[in-house]
Amino acid sequence: MKINAHRPPPCEGCTYYQAQERNIGACHRFPPSFAGDSSPIDFHHWKFPLVSANNWCGEFQAAALVGDLTGA
Ligand code: SF4
Repeated sequence: MKINAHRPPPCEGCTYYQAQERNIGACHRFPPSFAGDSSPIDFHHWKFPLVSANNWCGEFQAAALVGDLTGA
């Protein structure tokens, strides 16, 4: 099996990745999906997909590097 050397960098470098715990984060590329209504808490009903920090997909967008705006 060949490995594609041109695949995008991993999720942890993507602008849509929001880290949640070690090596796991939520992908915010698209709106959350319905996750069921078994919980009485409304915000539990909709979830962003969880992805590994080392995963990747074709929707990757490099996270912007934030510079020091203080000028210090
Ligand atoms: S690379 Fe894809 S799956 Fe990973 S955070 Fe970005 S958009 Fe989501």
